[in-house]
Amino acid sequence: MSSLAVQSDEEARLQALVEHDILDAESDPSIAHIVELATRLLGAPAAFVSFVGRNRQVLHAKIGIDLCGTDREISFCARTIEQNDILVVLDASRDLRFHDNPLVTGPPFIRFYAGSPLRTRDGHAIGTLCLAGSKPRRAFTSQHRRIFADLARLVLDRLELRRIEAARRATQSRFEHIAETSSDAIVCADELGRVTFWSVAAERLFGRTVAEALGQPLAILMPDRMRGGHEGDLRRIATGAAAGLIGRTVELIGRQKDGSEFPIELSLSTWTENGRAAFGAIVRDVTQRNMVEERLFSLVHLDTLTELPNRAVLRGRIEAAILDDRPAAVLMLDLDGFKEVNDAHGHAVGDAVLRMAANRLHSYLGTLGVVARFGGDEFAAVLPDIGDPLVAITHGQAVIDVLSEPYTVEGLVMRLGVSIGIALSPAHGISEDELLACADAALYRAKMDGRGRACLFTPVLREVAQRERACRDGLRNAIERGEFVLHYQPQVDLHDGTLVGAEALIRWQHPELGLLSPDAFLEVLDNGPNAAQVGDWVLRTACAQAQAWRDAGLQPFRIGVNLCAAQFHDGNLVERVAAALAATGLPAHTLELEITETIIVRHDPGVVATLQALRTMGVGIAFDDYGTGYASLSLLKRFPLTRLKIDRGFVNGLCSDRRDAAIVRAVIDLSRSFGLQVIAEGVETHEQRQRLIAKGCHEAQGYLFGRPMPAAEFITRFIGAPSVSRLPSSAA
Ligand code: C2E
Ligand code: CA
Ligand code: CA
Repeated sequence: MSSLAVQSDEEARLQALVEHDILDAESDPSIAHIVELATRLLGAPAAFVSFVGRNRQVLHAKIGIDLCGTDREISFCARTIEQNDILVVLDASRDLRFHDNPLVTGPPFIRFYAGSPLRTRDGHAIGTLCLAGSKPRRAFTSQHRRIFADLARLVLDRLELRRIEAARRATQSRFEHIAETSSDAIVCADELGRVTFWSVAAERLFGRTVAEALGQPLAILMPDRMRGGHEGDLRRIATGAAAGLIGRTVELIGRQKDGSEFPIELSLSTWTENGRAAFGAIVRDVTQRNMVEERLFSLVHLDTLTELPNRAVLRGRIEAAILDDRPAAVLMLDLDGFKEVNDAHGHAVGDAVLRMAANRLHSYLGTLGVVARFGGDEFAAVLPDIGDPLVAITHGQAVIDVLSEPYTVEGLVMRLGVSIGIALSPAHGISEDELLACADAALYRAKMDGRGRACLFTPVLREVAQRERACRDGLRNAIERGEFVLHYQPQVDLHDGTLVGAEALIRWQHPELGLLSPDAFLEVLDNGPNAAQVGDWVLRTACAQAQAWRDAGLQPFRIGVNLCAAQFHDGNLVERVAAALAATGLPAHTLELEITETIIVRHDPGVVATLQALRTMGVGIAFDDYGTGYASLSLLKRFPLTRLKIDRGFVNGLCSDRRDAAIVRAVIDLSRSFGLQVIAEGVETHEQRQRLIAKGCHEAQGYLFGRPMPAAEFITRFIGAPSVSRLPSSAA
């Protein structure tokens, strides 16, 4: 805030106003631009600059209000200029100063008002930058005040330039008088480009006294390295030859006497003096202004790719809805499958798809609220006045439909999905941060539930999100601290119970929670940045263990290792497998990699080539959890598999559910006709074992034969006794 005392000399104030030559002027475009920014940044329906004259206020560069001026008597702004600080009236009808004001009781029916005084360097408040609205507001936040003050500063900056320009058009003595009182440096030169006038502000700005400057070439204004280009220009301007630059402002680098540099803005003019050309420049240090502009710019900046508003704008809109006491729905959206499009077709296609998705979002949601890009393939929207969960979900569902339509770019037809998380204000939060966090937690849930869904926030999700965050953080440490371990579950020959393989299964030895099964962390791990790294660790550890068992004299058996999707799209799975085998000495044919449908479906077609290369090396490929997804027959033909693993869900119902029994039979028959081996998972009872044998299945794993166990236990159970048929659980 200005620290200057309020100037009470009304005549001097009016004189200052006149000096700016603005009262009857047309709307100054750069002031109009600032006013427009004010409505956007502060969410006000109306904004303008008011100049308060002797009896009237005149509205300048007005937006959203149909008023040219009013009597000073009733002017809100006349009040504002009497104080140093911003004047905010949240509800004029409840404010004793204004409740019976004709601008409140009659058109334009002002309820909300905010005014920031425009105070010149000499302390004269000549007018205000103000906002108005016909609805009351609940608050004008400290952030709003900061932005508002910044904007008023920009208006003042512009007004000062007008003042000097107006003076330039008056007499020389008047000009020199104004020049001496301005904070802007004024420099004049003769036709040879030699300084003839050097204002007080110029002394300050350039660190040279009048005596030092007079008679010097204009080039002393700028650094040596820039003189070459500009010296000629300046001379030509001074001699009137470069008329094009006159009246324009240009940004340059200024130089102090001590050599330090700073950004300046030059505004140039020429005139004739005693029949000779003369030249003048208004020079201002724009360091401060650049900072203010940068701050404001980042708030209004649009996303360059999609031309949607950015995060800051969206936050402002959510805040505005909260402050206006209106319900609102906040949507977080994340495209499903975008990364694949980008990976497969390149960034140009990816960008085009993003733009199309943004357009569709804007066409659908733009009429209801504001959609913003949050970065990458993430978007968010705020829909004011939507507080009903059903209505919000309906809109979410409609967005899913709109975005699921195919995208055609350069003849390619692509499909994408979108997952949406929704939070409602005020039910789920009363700040932008809270609402966005809730919508984000709901989005996470939506993705976990299988993508392509709209999920409404519930308080339970907050805990889930917190736990997941804790898990994510913990996982990062887990890798560094080596907290992962592998357990091994035996795979047996169903007839005689001999050991034929072991499946490596990951566990997390959590420092506080104890030994965690994959259910507790795998989802988070797979969606995080370390999935491939951990996958690689599993692969190398399991191979090393298998070779150690071979070295220890156990009858040779297979080792099964589960793969995750990240290991495929990291691109060098074949090399990594080869490296693990080479490092441990394990023969390739004893390694069996287990893949699931999610890997196959998400990463076709590169996956086929990768698997083919692995097959060529002699590594086996088992299709895990077979029958649970939509794996088609053609998929079995296209993929170079060696084994199907019957999901334990079907084995579980094998003896009680006819449909499960039919599926188990079908899978066994399928494997036979495709020349694949088969293994049943989750065998827990003798009855299941018998039924499987009867259906022609030869191998199984399950609690009946042994739970997953640490390597040390595995070796004591099986060393020298590779048959597990003697284990108590399998004793008939
Ligand atoms: P999966 O590959 O289908 O592994 C078999 C799961 O069934 C294991 O659960 C195992 O403990 C459990 N199981 C085995 N026999 C029985 C039984 O008789 N009855 C019952 N009810 N369950 C049985 P686990 O170890 O909790 O692993 C869960 C899943 O986590 C695995 O399912 C696999 O998809 C994933 N996973 C485990 N380790 C890894 C790993 O190292 N990498 C990757 N990418 N995924 C892993
Ligand atoms: Ca498995
Ligand atoms: Ca399985």
